[in-house]
Amino acid sequence: MTVSGHPDSPTGPASPGHLLELIRGRPGWTRQQLLAATGMSRTTLFERLDQLFRAGLVYESGATGTAVGRPAQRLRFDDRNRVALVFDLGQAHGRIAIADLFGRTLRMETLRLDISRPPSQLLPRLLGRADKLLRVDEDAQVVGVGMGIPGPVDVATGRLGASTTMPGWEGYAIEEAIRSRWDVPLLIENDARAFALGEASAGGERGVLLAVKYSTGIGAGIVVDDRVIGGADGAAGDIGHIRVADDGPMCRCGRRGCLAAWASGRALLEQLAGHGMHTLEDIVHSAHDPEVVTALRTAAARLGRVLAALVASVNPSTLVLGGILGQLPIVADEVERRVRADAVERATQRLRVVPARAGDDSATLGLTLMVVRHVYSAAAVDAALGLS
Ligand SMILES: [Zn+2]
Repeated sequence: MTVSGHPDSPTGPASPGHLLELIRGRPGWTRQQLLAATGMSRTTLFERLDQLFRAGLVYESGATGTAVGRPAQRLRFDDRNRVALVFDLGQAHGRIAIADLFGRTLRMETLRLDISRPPSQLLPRLLGRADKLLRVDEDAQVVGVGMGIPGPVDVATGRLGASTTMPGWEGYAIEEAIRSRWDVPLLIENDARAFALGEASAGGERGVLLAVKYSTGIGAGIVVDDRVIGGADGAAGDIGHIRVADDGPMCRCGRRGCLAAWASGRALLEQLAGHGMHTLEDIVHSAHDPEVVTALRTAAARLGRVLAALVASVNPSTLVLGGILGQLPIVADEVERRVRADAVERATQRLRVVPARAGDDSATLGLTLMVVRHVYSAAAVDAALGLS
């Protein structure tokens, strides 16, 4: 916490909201420790804590065991029974999860979907399923909804950009649909960026992380010190439509030679359709068949070449490969070989290429993190307490 104003000012750097951020950062503070960390007067600290107690945001979780004399109570952020509702939507699959405020999945359901369907048809089905999942535990209180979608998102406004993958979603009032069921904030993020944020959190890394979600489509996210880069148009990480050749196969975006047209899961299914491959799972199960191996290697090499440019641009310490195809060893090996061959050596010296560490939970983790950061930000908490 940076203390630049007077700590006893009601909306200053040690407002109740700031105090809660501090308490959330580490479980088990004593009042004495908070006094030392904030520089507040005892009266002010107790007044702020009282506000947080009355709002149900902190609780006493038990006494310290080792203190001499009267044991001190430990204070914690009250996350009990509070959950985030998460929709992690890809192009062909979706996952609905109820997560605790640390992003741990408590309950979830996966389903097949076609994200190119109009939201007016798809959303009611998703919301109905989420309702059922929530009803399993009547005490759970939803504090926010996180949604990952496979298209461009302006995170500041939550607005979806134009996308060939999701025609009909641009400008659709998703927030209204959500709020009609749960009157809580909705945070929308691109699926690959949510995945990247979750992976950065799971790996506990500071610095620069690059993560790629390689499945039906191809998307990437760059995380710098726990913040994912969204970009001016909300399109940061949209690497699938980088043209890697002037000619080449026609892409769904209407141009020729995009990376996605050569190497996406959709492109692989088209290439291997005559070979009995109808789903990405078929490809995964046949990843020893020579024809499938060749197709995967060629696709991975093209992806690796594009990633080499990104690696040279941002010099990450970690490159995470996720998605059903990205986690295949044959793909990971070829991507890593190509990245190391194509990027300058000084941009890859410390680079580690790893499979997704949170597995299928990565995006849920990232989206929950976004929800918690938003709902319990100092400004939001102060506003809820009527201080701003
Ligand atoms: Zn394209």
